[in-house]
Amino acid sequence: MIEDFMPKPTPETAPYWDAAKAGELRVQQCGACGRHYFYPRPFCRYCASPDVAWVKVSGRARLVSYVINRRPMPGFESVSPVIALVELDEGPRLMTNVVGVEPAPENLPLDLLGSGEATESAMVSQMEDPGSFQAFRRSSAEAFRTAGLGHGDVGHLMIYDAFAHLPLYGLEDLGFVGRGESGAFIADGHTIPGGSLPVNTNGGGLAYTHTGMYGMFAILESVRQLRGEAAAQVPDVEVSFVQGVGIFFAASGSLVLSNRGS
Ligand SMILES: [Zn+2]
Repeated sequence: MIEDFMPKPTPETAPYWDAAKAGELRVQQCGACGRHYFYPRPFCRYCASPDVAWVKVSGRARLVSYVINRRPMPGFESVSPVIALVELDEGPRLMTNVVGVEPAPENLPLDLLGSGEATESAMVSQMEDPGSFQAFRRSSAEAFRTAGLGHGDVGHLMIYDAFAHLPLYGLEDLGFVGRGESGAFIADGHTIPGGSLPVNTNGGGLAYTHTGMYGMFAILESVRQLRGEAAAQVPDVEVSFVQGVGIFFAASGSLVLSNRGS
């Protein structure tokens, strides 16, 4: 079955596949500006020069992101469950499989301070406590633990607000304020830019955009804040916490991002 899904080389990609068959990793390099690029195309992606050549690269890369696919599609059991995005030493990023390591997050270090994931019940009506989301509590605790940081280190917070009350749950379940304190915390101005903990500085999902898959936009705003490029920039942000939610209080993911050391 897997053969049915094998890539079909085209004139643009054939040199890549031919090299791969011979055990070499080749990408294209521009003769005009010198930069390497991927995916294959007949002109440089940076300067548009048609003076490009296929060159062998080192094969060394940094892991940028990955997913562990724990339920392979039938027929794909022999494929590594770790699908990754890597950045080659020469610059280009490409998709790959990770082989030769146990598929576990501790074996796959990322340029990310901390992360956590958790689930609660499949339905809102089955939540243990309708006023508090277990998955928020567990995933955020795991993110703080893996980052080795505490709440006082966080200078900026994004909470996926698919519904207007989610930042209230987030502030409390993530442990930034105590139970029942989030309303007053917001009313007192702590979460506005210039407050003690600016939250949802892109306007929040309900104002900015809610695509149904908003988590990426929350991450984007954190990255913009950490790069100093946000429209409502918080001064001197060093650590940003991003809290995602899935379905209706079913799943949760937390990230701790930082510009320290970059
Ligand atoms: Zn070029």
